Amino acid sequence: MAQSLDKALQQLQLDTLCRFSPEQVAALQQTTGLDNDNLALSLLPLAQQKALPTVSNFRVGALAIAGSGHWYLGANLEVDGLPLNHSLHAEQSAIGHAALWGETTIDKVVVTASPCGHCRQFMNELNQDKLVIVLPQTRQSLAELLPHAFGPADLGIDGGMLNAPAGSLAFDTEDPLILAALSEANASYAPYSQNRAGVALLLDDGRICRGRYLENAAFNPSLSPMQLALSQVLLQGATPTRIRQAVMVEAEADIRQHDTAAQTLARLSPVALYSLVL
Ligand SMILES: [Zn+2]
Repeated sequence: MAQSLDKALQQLQLDTLCRFSPEQVAALQQTTGLDNDNLALSLLPLAQQKALPTVSNFRVGALAIAGSGHWYLGANLEVDGLPLNHSLHAEQSAIGHAALWGETTIDKVVVTASPCGHCRQFMNELNQDKLVIVLPQTRQSLAELLPHAFGPADLGIDGGMLNAPAGSLAFDTEDPLILAALSEANASYAPYSQNRAGVALLLDDGRICRGRYLENAAFNPSLSPMQLALSQVLLQGATPTRIRQAVMVEAEADIRQHDTAAQTLARLSPVALYSLVL
């Protein structure tokens, strides 16, 4: 079965095997004969290849199945030389990936190992009662994995992480990198701090990798825009050493992203972070 999946993936001729359209998923299912969950589980090694587990050496792969039928890979990212709480978890990477493509619902998160408490809390911010977590041996709803949860509704926030109203930050420029970071800042989710933020990283081949801030009612599981953008660099088959320019746009607020983002970037790339506070 693994051989037929490999062959089917080669036939798709994808430049970057990190996002699958509904048509590609259907083609893979037809070729392999695997059902939805088992095909997703079979793709997790692809996600694991994108991990940067420099501290743990433990590769975690995840796949978010969005309501649109698109599938998004994610992988863990650890930052050598910084405290462990700068790490990005695979589930965050996959859901952040889906967010960057404008997805508004996630039906399933498929992952190689049981989600940690941090990720359960992060996924709870989706505010989707029917979210299912698929593991190699079991399938459970998030509600079963996180009973008596504390979430956005407890802080008076309706909707969830993928349904935030658009921001209105504005900056007069034609620089595509600043515009990309600005667009992500306006699409970010920061209902507790109002610190909307976005990052854009220019690679040596002209590609732009984006990240946006995704905040959490429990604060600590909030996903930094720099971590998400760096995760995109890896998912798209590049390395942080190929970053040529880095821009962050964030809203004036009581908290700031810049220092932490610059510190994270500095551990992985010599490029300095250009930052705008609006
Ligand atoms: Zn986790």
